[in-house]
Amino acid sequence: MEKEELWQAVLAQIQLSASPANFATWFKGTDIAFQKEGRIIIATPNSFAKEWLENKYGKAIFKVLHSLDEEIKEVKYEVKRSGLKVTKRAPLTFSEPGQLEFQEFEVDKETNLNPRYSFENFIVGPFNELAQAASWAAAKNPGQVYNPLFVYGGVGLGKTHLLQAVGNEIAKSFTQKKVRYIPSEKFTSGVVSSIRNREVESFRSKYQTVDVLIIDDVQFLAGKEKTQEEFFHTFNSLYEKNKQIILSSDRPPKAIPALAERLRSRFEGGMIADISYPDYETRIAILKTKGLERKAEFPEEILNYIASNIQRNVRELEGALNRLVAYQKLQGTAPNLEIAKSLLKNLISAPNKTVTAKKIIEVVAQFYDLREKEIISSSRKKEIVKPRQIAMYLLREELKSSFPFIGRRFGGKDHTTAIYAFEKIASEVDKNESFGEEINLIKQRIFSV
Ligand code: ADP
Ligand code: MG
Repeated sequence: MEKEELWQAVLAQIQLSASPANFATWFKGTDIAFQKEGRIIIATPNSFAKEWLENKYGKAIFKVLHSLDEEIKEVKYEVKRSGLKVTKRAPLTFSEPGQLEFQEFEVDKETNLNPRYSFENFIVGPFNELAQAASWAAAKNPGQVYNPLFVYGGVGLGKTHLLQAVGNEIAKSFTQKKVRYIPSEKFTSGVVSSIRNREVESFRSKYQTVDVLIIDDVQFLAGKEKTQEEFFHTFNSLYEKNKQIILSSDRPPKAIPALAERLRSRFEGGMIADISYPDYETRIAILKTKGLERKAEFPEEILNYIASNIQRNVRELEGALNRLVAYQKLQGTAPNLEIAKSLLKNLISAPNKTVTAKKIIEVVAQFYDLREKEIISSSRKKEIVKPRQIAMYLLREELKSSFPFIGRRFGGKDHTTAIYAFEKIASEVDKNESFGEEINLIKQRIFSV
C-alpha cells in the first residue's frame, strides 16, 4: 500500500472510535512522512498533536498499521517542517515531564511583542478562520496583501493574540523589518505627553521608521481628536511606503463612535475580518490543547461541562482550565466533576442569570458613548432615539420582558412605544446585515462582561 492509502485506512479505523471533535483536533493535517523497511514516521502539524497522538493514540495507531501490514514494526512521530515551525522560544516544549509551571515570557523591548502569542498556539475554528487566514497572509507578505488589516470581535476572543502572532511571525521571518506593537491607549498617552513636552517631531519619527505597525483596540481612539489626527498622519506616511498596518477593535470601523471620517475610511480601505464565537467543537479543542500545553488532562465530562457553560470568551475558557490545573498540581490528582463544578462556581453562572435590564441599558449606553440617563430620557435626538430603541429591543429579545415593563423601565413610556421600538429594530436587523452585526456586537458585550 502507498503511504497515503495506508494512512487513509488508519484514519478510517480510528475515526470509528474517536469522537468527532477529538478526531478533528488531533488528526487534522497528519500523514505518513516516511515508510521503509517496517519503519513509519507520522508527521503532525504541531507539537501538541505529536504528543497527543503518541501518548493517546500510539497503541491504537500501531495496531491498525500492523494489521494492515505485518512488516510494520516501528512507528515514530514528528512535527512537520512547514511555515509553522516552532522556534526556540516557543512555549510548547514538553521536555520536562510532569512539569506544570507555565513558562514566563518577557515582552520584547523593541517590538513590544510578547513571544507567548504565536500562530502555532492559536487554535483555528469556523469562528476565527477568516481572521486567522488574513493575518497569516499579512505575516507572510507584509505590506503586500491586506493593508490595513482590521480585525474586530468581542472581548477575550483572541484579537490581541492574533495581532501579536503576526508581529512575532514577521519579526522572525523578516529579521530586518522593524515591528512595533502598541495598544491604542498607549499611543494616545504618547501623543499627549509629546505635545506636553514639545517632542511631537521625535514622537512622529519614532513611528515613521517602522515597517509593521500594530495598533490594538483602536475603539479607544473614539473622541480623541488630537490622537486621531496624529495617527492619521502616521498611517498615511506608512501606507504610502507600503508598510504593513494592522489594527484591532471590538467593533467594525463604522460602529466606532466619534471617529474622524477620514480615519474611518482609511480603516475600511483594506481587509476587515471578524472573530465571532467559538462553536462547541472548537471550545473543546481549545480546552484540550491548552490542557496539553499545561501538561494536564481532564475527563471528557469536565471538558464538556466547561465548554457548555462558557461559550463566548476564550480567555474565560482558559481561566477555568487554569483553575483546574492549579488544583491538580496542588492535589496531585485531577478533580472529579463535582469538585470541578465547585472550583468553577464563581466563573460559571447560570446563563442569563447575570443579564438584567440595567446591564443591557448600561452596555448599550456605553456602546454608543451615551450616558444611561440619556437613554432613559425622553429626548428625541436621533443619536439617542436609536440606541434607546435598540436597548428596548434587547430587553424584549434577551429577557423576554413585557412591553409595559419595558415602557416603564425607560422613564415611564407607553407600552406602544416599546412595541414600536421592538418592531422597528427587528425589521432593520432583518433587512440590514451590517446593522445585525452591530446588534450582535452589543449582545457579545452584554454576555461577556
Ligand atoms: P482579545 O484581545 O480579543 O480580548 P486575547 O487575544 O487577549 O483576546 O485572548 C484572550 C486569551 O485567550 C489569551 O490568553 C489568548 O492567548 C487566548 N486565546 C484567544 N483565542 C485563542 C485561540 N484561537 N487559540 C488559542 N488561544 C486563544
Ligand atoms: Mg485584546
